[in-house]
This record gives sequence, structure tokens and C-alpha cells, in this order.
Amino acid sequence: MKQRWIVLAVTASLVLVLGSCAGAPGPTPAPAPTTLEAPPSSSTAPTPTPDTTHTHPSTSQPPVPQPTPSPTPPPIIHPPSSAPPVLPYDGPIIDAHSQCCPENLGRIIQLMNQAGVTRTILSPGVTSPRGIVTPEDLISFSSSHPGRIIPAVLTKIGPYGNYYQLLEKQMNMDGFGAMAEFLVYHSRKGDRAPEIIVYPEDRQMQTALNYALGKKWPFIIHIEFAAAGCPRNELMTKLKALLVQYPDQPFVLIHMGQLDHAAVRQLIEAYGNIYFITSSSTPAYAVNAFNDRWTNMFDGSHLSADWKQLIIEHSDRFILGFDMVWVEDWGPFYLGQVRLWREAIGGLPSEVAHAIAHRNAERLWHLPPSE
Ligand SMILES: [Zn+2]
Repeated sequence: MKQRWIVLAVTASLVLVLGSCAGAPGPTPAPAPTTLEAPPSSSTAPTPTPDTTHTHPSTSQPPVPQPTPSPTPPPIIHPPSSAPPVLPYDGPIIDAHSQCCPENLGRIIQLMNQAGVTRTILSPGVTSPRGIVTPEDLISFSSSHPGRIIPAVLTKIGPYGNYYQLLEKQMNMDGFGAMAEFLVYHSRKGDRAPEIIVYPEDRQMQTALNYALGKKWPFIIHIEFAAAGCPRNELMTKLKALLVQYPDQPFVLIHMGQLDHAAVRQLIEAYGNIYFITSSSTPAYAVNAFNDRWTNMFDGSHLSADWKQLIIEHSDRFILGFDMVWVEDWGPFYLGQVRLWREAIGGLPSEVAHAIAHRNAERLWHLPPSE
């Protein structure tokens, strides 16, 4: 098995919750342990299979006499429904959050071109067999492809060095245009990774948040609400407090926060500064090795009716993002996920599709328009 985890050295403010709800977990100081982030379900997600539906005409058969063309036109076949056929969205796309390994840097641009992804907000991701992408590597990669890659400040900790020093170093470098997801609640992944909780008031998060506030960057938070168990209510209360405390700061729940459409609607309608990145919310993530409870926004290959309605009503709050993480994510899996989303948002009104595909990201991260 490849080494696929990022080692996160954590500071005293990080709490490991070891499955007990006793004593209502709070920001209790803990000794500095080592934690691991395990792979998302994409490691077990089915890889899109090649399109084998196209058949080639056989050349081994003798030519068959062709009938004389009839002057009458072919009959019009009416589809079972009167609805017009849904075409995939073919406009620009910004991937608002993905991660890279050294192995991927040579192929990300080509894959983006294949998928029609205009820009990617990219952060160094996990440690891979070839090591890590350093902040310098990422800035250099971005500079080689002007306008395509927006480097995002890494907020994970580990082989990169001291968390606070690394943050400060990146914030002092030219070229970053975003901050990567901050892990607030990350569920246990089998024996690969313990639970991770960093409470919003903890120094780790406050430091990152203050940097994001200073740059007017959206603050992306990873909270697996469905998996959070006991701390779920406390985390939701603290998230809401943040939304009130910083009314002009966009907060973005990545992976839809593992929330259902009713909970997402409630947040959107109560707070003007909460947004959602759609990563990990397709059927490919529904079944996975760790029983992660990712949100599934789909009914087959289409958005489910509830999600479609919510997105249409609040099209300014949803942002496409694919969160490719592992070496193998950047390949057919990526192309399949982008294709699925193009089909899904093709069924939305054009203005809505463009909003979630790129305009919301352009507005929030201060990017030039893609069109
Ligand atoms: Zn995440």
C-alpha cells in the first residue's frame, strides 16, 4: 500500500476525540500527537470506464446492396417526455479546491484542458511516494501557467515544518491567491487516521482565519457534520457564531459540510456569508472504505430534485470544486467527475450554471472573469 497520508503534527490545541462523548469535548489542551489524514473515498470510488458504446462498422462483410433512398422524410420520433433534451454545460469551470502531489504537476494542466477547466485553486496535498509539493514548487508551477493555477496556502501541518512558521512563510510569499481548506472536524478513517478536531476558537484556526481576513480570501472549512457525532452540535453552534462575528467574511463549507439539503437551506437562509463547495458529493463518494457519510446530491446522474431546487433558489452560494487529492485522482477519475458535473448543471438555467461553475468563485476569490 502506498504511503498516502499527510502527517499532521498538531499543536496543543488540537483535540483527539477517541470515541467517547463523556464530558462534552471542548478545546482541552492535549500533548502534541501525530495525526494522519486518510484518503477520501475516491480511492475506492469506481473509476469511470472507457466509453465502449461506439461500435465500428465491420469490414469483413460483403457489401450489402443499399435500398434506393425514399423521397419521404423519416418519421419524427417524439421522446416520451415533452422536455427538451438536456445538454451538458459547456462553459468555463473553476475548480475551487484541489490538491497536488509531485507526481501530478506534470499532468494537471493537460487534464484541465481535457476537462475544460479554466482555473484551479490548488494547494499542496498529501505526501506521496515522491514526497511533497513545497510552497516554492507550487508558486513556480503556477508561474509557468499564467492564469490557470491559483496557489492556495497550505493549512495542514507535518513534513512541511512548524505550522505557524509555515503559515507565516507562505503569507509572506508572492503568488498565493487563496487559502486551502482548514480541517476543523475530520473523522476517523479506520486505523489510518484518528479523529481530528480543532475548535474555531483554537489558536491554530484563529491564526489561519486572521490571515484570510487580512487578504480578503474566503475561509474554507472542512467539517464532516454527518460523522461528527457528539461534537456536531457544538461545532454547528460555533460555526454560526463565526458567521455572525464576521458578517463580511465568506465562510465556505467544503464537501457540502456533509449536510443534507434541509440543513444547507437553513444555513443559507439564516446567514448571508455561508457558501458551499460541491466536492465529494457525487455517487462515486457514496460508498467508501471508511463508511464516510458524504452528501450525495445526485439521483442517478442528475441532481436530485431537492438539491436542484435549492441551487436554483440560492445560486450565489454554491461553488464547483472537485478536491482531487491523491496521485490517482488526477486522471480518469477527475475527467469523469468534471463530466458528471457538466451533465448535472446542464439541467439548470444558464445563469445558475455559470454562477456555480465559475462566477461565484471569480467574485469570492477576486479572479478575472473567465468569459
Ligand atoms: Zn477536505
